Amino acid sequence: MATLSLENIRKTYGKTEVVHGISLDVEEGEFVVIVGPSGCGKSTLLRMVAGLETITAGELRIGGERVNEREPMDRDIAMVFQNYALYPHMTVFENMAYGLRIARTPRAEIDRRVRQAAEMLQLEPYLARRPRELSGGQRQRVAMGRAIVRKPRVFLFDEPLSNLDAKLRVQMRLEIRALQRELGVTALYVTHDQVEAMTLADRMVVMNGGHAEQIGAPLEVYRAP
Ligand code: ADP
Ligand code: ADP
Repeated sequence: MATLSLENIRKTYGKTEVVHGISLDVEEGEFVVIVGPSGCGKSTLLRMVAGLETITAGELRIGGERVNEREPMDRDIAMVFQNYALYPHMTVFENMAYGLRIARTPRAEIDRRVRQAAEMLQLEPYLARRPRELSGGQRQRVAMGRAIVRKPRVFLFDEPLSNLDAKLRVQMRLEIRALQRELGVTALYVTHDQVEAMTLADRMVVMNGGHAEQIGAPLEVYRAP
C-alpha cells in the first residue's frame, strides 16, 4: 500500500480545468519531485494534497485512508513553504513547537523533539531568537524544523529554496539530501529548478499544462532521445 496515493486528481477554477487527472503513488521513504514551468499546476496539486485547496474530482489517500475532505491538521502531513510562513512574534523554539502545542503534545516531549531537530539543523544557538534576527537560510531551516518535529507521514515542500541566493540554494539542497538519508522521509517536493529536481528526486513527475507528461527516475526522464 502506497503511503500517499493520488488517483485521477483534478482541479477546476470556474470552467477552467488546471489539473487534468493526475495519478501517482508515493511509497514509504520515497522522495518524489514535481517539476515543470510556472503555471503548469504544480502548486495547485500540492495544495490539494495539503488540504489548502479543495479537490474537484479524484481520490486522495494517505496511509490507505481517503482524506479528500479532511482538514490540513488531520492529514498527517507537514508543509514547508517558499516564504517560510514563520510567526514573527515567536522565538525559533516557539515557532518549531507550535504545531506540537496545538496537538497537545506533553511539554517534555516537545522539548526533546525541538532540541533534536535544532541539533540536526544547526539551529541550537538561535532557539531564543526571533525570525527577523535570522538569515534567509536560517529561516528556511526553522521552517523545516517545524515540519520535522511533527514526524508527519508525508512532507510537502512548495519551492522551499526559491527565495535563497544561489550559493545557499546549493548548500540547502545538500542539507535536504542529508535529512532524507537520516530520516528516510516520504516527500512530495515542488520546484521549477531542474537541477534541484535531479539532485533530490528518487522519482520525478514532469508536469506541463496541468498534465503529468512523464513520471520516472531522474535519469529515465532526462535520458537523451
Ligand atoms: P505552478 O505552481 O506550476 O506555477 P499553479 O498551480 O500556481 O502553477 O497554477 C496553475 C494554473 O491555475 C495557472 O494557470 C493559474 O493561473 C491557475 N490558478 C491558480 N490558482 C487559481 C485561482 N485561485 N483561480 C483561478 N485560477 C487559478
Ligand atoms: P506561485 O506560482 O508563486 O505560487 P501564483 O501567482 O501562481 O504564485 O499564485 C499566487 C496566488 O494567487 C495563489 O494563491 C493562487 O491560487 C492565486 N492565483 C493564481 N492565479 C490566479 C488566477 N488566475 N486567478 C485567481 N487567483 C490566482
